[in-house]
Amino acid sequence: MSSASQEREARVVDAAPKQLYINGQWRDARQGRVLEVRDPSTGSLLCTVANASPEDGRDALEAAQAAQQGFAAMPPRQRATILMRAFELMHERKDDLALLMTLEMGKPLADAAGEVVYAAEFFRHFAEEATRISGGYQDAPTGNARFLIRQEPVGPSLLITPWNFPLAMGTRKLGPAIAAGCTSVLKPAELTPLSMLALAQILEDAGAPPGVVNIVVTSTAGQVMEPLIRSGIARKLSFTGSTQVGKKLLEQCADKVLRTSMELGGNAAFVVFEDADVDKAVDGAMLAKMRNSGEACTAANRIFIHRSVLQEFSEKLAQRMGELKVGRGVDEGVQVGPMVDATQLDKVKELVDDAVGAGAEVVVGGEVAPGDGYFYQPTVLRDVPREARMWTEEIFGPVAPLTPFDSEKEVVDLVNDTEYGLVNYVYTNDLNRALRVAESIESGMVGLNQGVVSNPAAPFGGMKESGLGREGGDTGIDEFLETKYIGIAMA
Ligand code: ADP
Repeated sequence: MSSASQEREARVVDAAPKQLYINGQWRDARQGRVLEVRDPSTGSLLCTVANASPEDGRDALEAAQAAQQGFAAMPPRQRATILMRAFELMHERKDDLALLMTLEMGKPLADAAGEVVYAAEFFRHFAEEATRISGGYQDAPTGNARFLIRQEPVGPSLLITPWNFPLAMGTRKLGPAIAAGCTSVLKPAELTPLSMLALAQILEDAGAPPGVVNIVVTSTAGQVMEPLIRSGIARKLSFTGSTQVGKKLLEQCADKVLRTSMELGGNAAFVVFEDADVDKAVDGAMLAKMRNSGEACTAANRIFIHRSVLQEFSEKLAQRMGELKVGRGVDEGVQVGPMVDATQLDKVKELVDDAVGAGAEVVVGGEVAPGDGYFYQPTVLRDVPREARMWTEEIFGPVAPLTPFDSEKEVVDLVNDTEYGLVNYVYTNDLNRALRVAESIESGMVGLNQGVVSNPAAPFGGMKESGLGREGGDTGIDEFLETKYIGIAMA
C-alpha cells in the first residue's frame, strides 16, 4: 500500500463526522460514551464514534416530534428539493463516501462506489414522488355526501438499518420519509456508523431543517430503541435486519400499534433449468451470489441446477469463483473483501464445515483466506445434502452451494420449502415455464434470467417471514403515509 493512499484513508476518516446528529446539532453522547469502528480487512481501529445512551435517543425523538408539524407543512416541492440536492451532493462526494464505506465495512471500492450511486438514486426517486402524493374526491353511493381523501405523513418515524449496505439501507428509508413529510430518528448498525453520519452531513448541507433527520449511533440498540418504540411519540418503525430481531421489534410495536415496515432475512434459491443459457446463468449466479461478497439478504443461498447441466455449470462457476481476487477493498483490482467481523467469518466457516461433514464436495475454496482481516475464499460446493444447515440458514458469505434437481415440480417445492420469501432467481428460455414458475414461487421478488433485482424504482420486499411492506417503487412512499377521508354532507 502506498503512503499516498494511506494518507488519503487517514484524511477521509479524520474528516468524517463522529458525533450524534440531533436537532440539527452535532454533539457527543450525554455520558461521553464512545464506540470503536474497525477496518474488517485488518482488524485495526479506524476511529471512535459517539455512543448514544437511552437519554440521547429520547432527545433525538423529542427533536423529531418538535419538528414534525412544521415539516409536514413544508411544501412538497421544497421537500423534493432537499432530496434532489442531497442526491447531487452524494454524487459530488462519491469518492470519499465510497472510501469511508470500504474502510468501515470491507466491500471493494468499486462496489462501494456502486452503492453510493444506488443509494443516491433513492433520493432522486423519492424527490420525484414527493410532488405526486395523490388524493381523491368522490361521490358517496347514496349521492348525498362526498368523500375527500388525502394522504398525510404518518408522523415521527424510527428507522433501523443494517451494516451490509450502510448507505443504501438508509436512503431507502429516509428518501420516502422525507418525501412524505415524516421526521425521523435513524439508528445505523454499530459496525458501520460512519457512512450514515456522512449522509446526515449531506442532508444538513442540502437544507434539511433541524430535527427532521436525527442520527443515533449506539452499541446498545435494544436499550436505546425499545423505549422509543414504546414511547407513544413514534408512529412508525421501518427496520432492515434479521428476522429474529424483526420479530422482537414487531412485538414491541404492538404496544402502541406502530405502523411497521420490515425487511428481514432471506433464503434465496437460484434455479437453472436444462433449457437455460448456461453462460448467462453463470454470469447471473456470480451477481446473485457475489454482490457484496455474499453479505446480502438477496444473495443466492441455495443453487438448484438441473442434473443435465450440473457438470457444465459447476465447472464454469468454479472457474469464475476461483479467479476472483480477494483482499483489502481499497486495493486495486480486489473483487471480494473481508467478512464484516469475526462472528460473520466464524459463521461462514461453520456452515461450510457442516456441509462438508454432511458429504458436500468442495469444488473450489472451502477455507478461511490468509490475512489479518476476516477473509474467506470464494467457494463452490457440490451435491450439498438437504440436511446441511446452509439450506435453512443464511450463509451471508462467498459460498455457493449447488445441488441437482430433476423436475420442475420438484424444484418449485424445494424453492418454497423455507419460511423465507424475499427473492428467488430463475433461469430458463421457455417463456411458459418462466411465467408458470415465477407465479408459483412464494417470494416478493423474482429475478427472471437476471441475478440482481434491487432497483429504487421497483417495489423491494418479502413475503412470509421475510417481511412486511415494500420499499422503493411507486408504493414505497405509502409506507410513510396515512390515508384520511373527510366525509362531506351535501345539503
Ligand atoms: P444483522 O444480522 O444484519 O446484524 P440485526 O438484526 O442483528 O442483523 O441488526 C440489524 C440492525 O438492528 C442493526 O442496526 C442492529 O443494531 C439493530 N438491532 C439489533 N438488535 C436490536 C434490538 N433489540 N432493538 C433495536 N435494534 C436492534
